[in-house]
Amino acid sequence: MGLIVSPSAGGSVLFGAKEIHPLPSYLWKVPPGKPSHSLCELPSRLQEAVSRRVVTGVLRQIKERFPDDFARLKDRVVMIRALSRDEFDSGTRGWWHGRKVWALYRDVDPFTLSEEIRLNWDETACGIVELPECSWVTEDGLAANAAHEFGHACTLNEDVEKRQAPLEEWGREAAADWYAYRWGFGRLIGKTRRTRELGHHGAGPGQTVELEFDGRRIAYRLGRDFVYRGVE
Ligand SMILES: [Zn+2]
Repeated sequence: MGLIVSPSAGGSVLFGAKEIHPLPSYLWKVPPGKPSHSLCELPSRLQEAVSRRVVTGVLRQIKERFPDDFARLKDRVVMIRALSRDEFDSGTRGWWHGRKVWALYRDVDPFTLSEEIRLNWDETACGIVELPECSWVTEDGLAANAAHEFGHACTLNEDVEKRQAPLEEWGREAAADWYAYRWGFGRLIGKTRRTRELGHHGAGPGQTVELEFDGRRIAYRLGRDFVYRGVE
């Protein structure tokens, strides 16, 4: 079952969470900070003009092709900002710091919460997208990473379940890619595939990966439909 309230309805933030934004700073490792501008209506603190242009292009394409997905991004993404340089130097190319609905309401008397909130307790409420600045990566690399991180931001729990991944992490990664591919960024992501870490990302579409359970190796293939299946 999906969300009870369509995030696109009236453009309002899910569950009235807008009243709570910005979240109490203790809920973030590094709080979102103040936006310096917006990119296609999403708050941002990216420094470089080229980064802003590339990310705006990604968001515009999502908005044109899948307005409902874009509406969910608008509801969920409270900040787009640069990765820390340390994260980048250790190999990270993007990050989605999502916060679940339960994290927003954990201090609230549960008997005062609406049914919508309780039914969506484990869904994502909001989060921060972190991306490399354009002088650190190529424009195509930034666009691919941005599309993938926005894919994480857009993911519902049911999207992860549909991937039937042997590891939950791989399910989340495949769900993010499923969105990025549907928005038209498959070719760009394909180009970054060889630099991705298999253990974290799992397979790309059409690839086979092996896992070892109790000394037995089991192969899984990620189909073009982004569903994992065991290989005989
Ligand atoms: Zn990812």
